[in-house]
Amino acid sequence: MADALPDTPFLERINSIVGSAGWIDPTRADGYFVDARNRFRGDAQLVVRPSSTNQVSQVVALCNQCGVGLVPYGGGTGGSAGHIDFERRKIIVLSLERMNAIRSVSQDNDTIDVEAGCVLVNVKEAARQHNRCFGLSLASEGSCTIGGNLSSNAGGIQVLRYGNARDMCLGVEVVLPDGAILKNTGALRKDNTGYDLRHLMIGSEGTLGIITAATLKLFPVPKEIATVMCAFPSPGAALALLGDLRNEVGEAVTAFELMSRFGMDLATRHFPELGDPFEQSHSWFGLVDVEGHIGIGAQLEGVLERMFSSGIVTDAVLAQSGKQRQSLWNLRELAYEYNRQEGVIFSSDTSVPIAEVENFIAAVECALAGINPLLRVNCYGHVGDGNIHVNVFPPKGVARSRFLLVNPTIQNELDIAINETTASCGGSISAEHGIGRVKRDALLKFGDPVKQATMRAIKAAIDPNNIMNPGAVFAN
Ligand SMILES: Cc1cc2nc3c(=O)[nH]c(=O)nc-3n(C[C@H](O)[C@H](O)[C@H](O)COP(=O)(O)OP(=O)(O)OC[C@H]3O[C@@H](n4cnc5c(N)ncnc54)[C@H](O)[C@@H]3O)c2cc1C
Repeated sequence: MADALPDTPFLERINSIVGSAGWIDPTRADGYFVDARNRFRGDAQLVVRPSSTNQVSQVVALCNQCGVGLVPYGGGTGGSAGHIDFERRKIIVLSLERMNAIRSVSQDNDTIDVEAGCVLVNVKEAARQHNRCFGLSLASEGSCTIGGNLSSNAGGIQVLRYGNARDMCLGVEVVLPDGAILKNTGALRKDNTGYDLRHLMIGSEGTLGIITAATLKLFPVPKEIATVMCAFPSPGAALALLGDLRNEVGEAVTAFELMSRFGMDLATRHFPELGDPFEQSHSWFGLVDVEGHIGIGAQLEGVLERMFSSGIVTDAVLAQSGKQRQSLWNLRELAYEYNRQEGVIFSSDTSVPIAEVENFIAAVECALAGINPLLRVNCYGHVGDGNIHVNVFPPKGVARSRFLLVNPTIQNELDIAINETTASCGGSISAEHGIGRVKRDALLKFGDPVKQATMRAIKAAIDPNNIMNPGAVFAN
């Protein structure tokens, strides 16, 4: 633990800004210091929970004056430890959890204005109540917040249709490191008045400012949703279906997720109530949603028939009810949990050009077998975006803890092998989870040096005292 509480004058000033309900002694705030996969344990001098943008502004200005770092915290579901400082810096955690108001919804503008601490599922529900939909969809949507989604430019399962978080955001309100409030929210679809600071803040992982609110785009509620799980002989066949489907129904293809045989086995072993939807054993699976006008499901069936006759799709289960649709989606969305229960030792967040997906999967499996042929590998993910999560497990029957004890450098070896394969396929080491504190070294090694130098120059200009999420993205 870092030095317990900060000195009394600092604490008194924090208390005078946020009141006694607005801060927590870190010894009573354990939940803020562990990550979703239980890989890291962090600490802080204080957890501060402001309830308004003005309070955030005052807290940030005080920290800037006193040289205290701030680690912004949304729902704590981030995959790269951006929200956890485990390097004993002099920092406070700044949680946006009390700033969770839906400020307004406009059907005329198709927008929703929300505070950054709004949990994603609540934003979607508020949109639904106004007969609109908000397109961001993640398995963590019951916990993650809009501030975290924007700061990490989250992706998820509907990027094909709605884009990443940045594509769904029209404006942000941000507290800058000196406490100034950048008011850049609003319903404008066009605004070419100089640099677009919204896009600088989105994806900056809390290293440039604290997002306190955002204006988000809403969309019409689709009239019909059809869901099918298909079986394929290879990932390439899955992509052939995706191509054909997009030719036929265009942007109505909302989600296209890939699962492996091993992934299906893990899902049904750890969650037996789910069940394999197919009688025969298949190698690869694709879970597809198409959404749009009435009749879109019939169009999907037409494409599937063609794909059956050409041998690209070998089997398919079309959801006949909302319940069956949810069961199919559970097979995919519980991946985080069944991988964890199986003892995953490494998980990547890789993206490659879509045309490289099949090569990448074959090459990475080969590279990992070169490290240890008994390792088990589950490649799955948002294949329609070229985003593959490579999850690696100890040999069958070997416990995770024992395997890591005997192979202390294995995670590093896996990281290097996967990243090198990614680079050879023209890919990115971080598709949607960000750099955080986990991928700083990989960014240094695989990132474009000119881009990194420019990022550092921007960071130094906006946050010269390095108080905003110190240690995230850059080691120092
Ligand atoms: C089961 C599961 C499934 C997931 N699936 C996906 C997926 O499909 N796609 C995907 O992209 N991610 C996925 N994730 C990762 C995670 O949910 C997302 O990255 C999410 O956007 C993080 O939101 P959060 O509110 O939990 O942010 P946190 O984890 O709290 O923080 C994430 C980063 O944002 C910063 N931050 C948080 N709030 C603010 C703010 N208001 N201002 C400035 N910086 C801030 C933090 O400092 C940190 O760097 C998944 C996670 C889990 C556990």
